[in-house]
Amino acid sequence: MKKYGYEVVDAIVEHFDTQNEKHPVALASRKEMDNLFLEQAPENPEDAHKVLDFVLKNVMTKSNIVSHPKSYSFVPGPSNYISAMADTLATGFNIFSGGWAASPAAAELEIVTLNWLLKIFGFPLKKGGGIFTSGGSMANLTAIVTARRIKCGDNFSKAVIYLSDQAHSSNIKAIRILGFKKEQIRIIPTDIEFKLSLNKLRNAIAKDRLEGLQPFCMIATAGTTNTGTVDPLSELSKICKKEDIWFHIDGAYGGAAILAKNGKKLLKGIEKADSLTVDPHKWFFQPYEMGCLLVRNSKWLKNTFTETPEYLRDVEGNESEINFYDHGVQLTRRFRALKFYMSIKTFGLKAFRDAITYNIQLAEKVEDLLRKSANWEIISPATLAVINFRYNPIGNKLSEDELDELNQYISEKIVGSRKALLVTTVLNGQTVLRMCLINPRTTLEDVKETILLCNDFAKEKYSN
Ligand code: PLP
Repeated sequence: MKKYGYEVVDAIVEHFDTQNEKHPVALASRKEMDNLFLEQAPENPEDAHKVLDFVLKNVMTKSNIVSHPKSYSFVPGPSNYISAMADTLATGFNIFSGGWAASPAAAELEIVTLNWLLKIFGFPLKKGGGIFTSGGSMANLTAIVTARRIKCGDNFSKAVIYLSDQAHSSNIKAIRILGFKKEQIRIIPTDIEFKLSLNKLRNAIAKDRLEGLQPFCMIATAGTTNTGTVDPLSELSKICKKEDIWFHIDGAYGGAAILAKNGKKLLKGIEKADSLTVDPHKWFFQPYEMGCLLVRNSKWLKNTFTETPEYLRDVEGNESEINFYDHGVQLTRRFRALKFYMSIKTFGLKAFRDAITYNIQLAEKVEDLLRKSANWEIISPATLAVINFRYNPIGNKLSEDELDELNQYISEKIVGSRKALLVTTVLNGQTVLRMCLINPRTTLEDVKETILLCNDFAKEKYSN
């Protein structure tokens, strides 16, 4: 067991040590993967080291490196070694993090680390609470179930929910999972800065009230996935308060910016949410999977999710001993709090603040760099470490369709080269390149090299 374990640890350490020199992109077709792996479940054993060698050689090398400095797309996963080891401990000891009786220490660490987060986000410390989830999608789902339970009880046939056209798809997915009909969902348009339009929201709520419907939940975003935009949180909180609407904020990727001075300002009003999604496996540098939902009143979760089957009768415990299976969907849960606890204890919050501050400034430097070039156009400015831009040389005679095709081509060539993960998104109908720079391992030099590569591919296509 020790030899096997050391081999695993050696491989992980080597990965941390050498990942920057590898290609971040792994490309493989289904056929290639089938050729490597497809087989019947073996009836007989094989040497454990042989299986491990095969996995290290073939499995771990055929995945994108999400913590690579040139992995810019989606939301990167800049993990840290302490948390990876903490996860190994949690798995090795197979700690059941559902109820107090099974692991008082796991429940206590979840309470302690949730309290850290409540304080960071300015939520009420005594009444507030939360739960760690698999990720942001599960946190958003948990929030919307809770909002519906608390605001509508069992009768939600007239309930209406509001979100912007820039809200993350996990929200609409959650709304659909919960069985809401199309007529109960309002997608509110955003303005030129991709912020939810307050007037359009007010009008929508007024119209729904006139029709006898029940506006019950508003989902704002603090750091949209596309552009890093923060919705007008303070104004939205006032509208929600006045209208008695649940105010949920999805800060899955952007919320962590509260630790940095330059992020905190942008996130003003986040403390007013009834519920808040943050995703420690994004900008809190935790390995997958770790999401989090914070609520102003932990009773809301308890009142929404508690079931009392006879087989759990003996472990219910008292009021102060939280059973996290009563705060969300999962009964059996892994011990997510451990990695958060150990990494924050080990590095200190200041290291997190410094890393996030660095990321926000890096994106601003990238914006400056691109603005100085005659080839590049900024489509949305650096906000919470996200920036969107496209190749559009001054004086060119390309149509919008040709520009879309050109920027799609640049992305495909870059990804095809495996040297950087840089994919497109669509903003105002334009195909643009999007960089999410939340990895503290990424340097300005890395970005410069990537832009140079983009320039080369653009010229190759442009000259044809
Ligand atoms: N919300 C936002 C704003 C996101 O950016 C994301 C993921 O990128 C999610 C929710 C979904 O989170 P997860 O992928 O952890 O489920």
